[in-house]
Amino acid sequence: MQFVVGQQLREPVGTVTHYDIRESKPLPQGEGSLSELTGSVDLMRTDEGILVSATLHCTVAGRCSRCLTDISYPLTLTFQEEYLPTVDASTGEPLPLPTDSDAFLIDRHQVLDLTEAVRQYRLTAEPMQPLCKPDCLGLCPHCGYNLNEGPCGCSEQETDARWAALAELAGNIEQEQES
Ligand SMILES: [Zn+2]
Ligand SMILES: [Zn+2]
Repeated sequence: MQFVVGQQLREPVGTVTHYDIRESKPLPQGEGSLSELTGSVDLMRTDEGILVSATLHCTVAGRCSRCLTDISYPLTLTFQEEYLPTVDASTGEPLPLPTDSDAFLIDRHQVLDLTEAVRQYRLTAEPMQPLCKPDCLGLCPHCGYNLNEGPCGCSEQETDARWAALAELAGNIEQEQES
């Protein structure tokens, strides 16, 4: 998502330009990919550069962390970042680079590119362990069956085995008491 801000940089401090975003270019498919981005971006001229206020909605393709089913979930990114120019908008002369090396920069063609900011804010907004549904049952640790589709049979056997062990233990205790 790029904005050419040469004109914006020549406007008085405080000037706001509003953009409605609807990026529908095809995005790569597969895990982690985004659907189209929608939302709004405001660019405000500041003393030093341009303050971006963005609210973006997208859909992320992912995988349920419990049952590994492909899922997609909506994500909203809201952020404010100031972008600093690298050349003077009027003269085209290079400007001294900001001391903060993490600062977002407007390139020498006066293009303000939101791609990196979107990437960074996505990382913090995305759930660590996305789920297909809040009560996803996950996979059976023994046979790998997706337990959302029904019981696999392993769990019943395991429970039986545990009861049997308990019963045996109980039997031993009784015997000890008798002797
Ligand atoms: Zn799941
Ligand atoms: Zn199983």
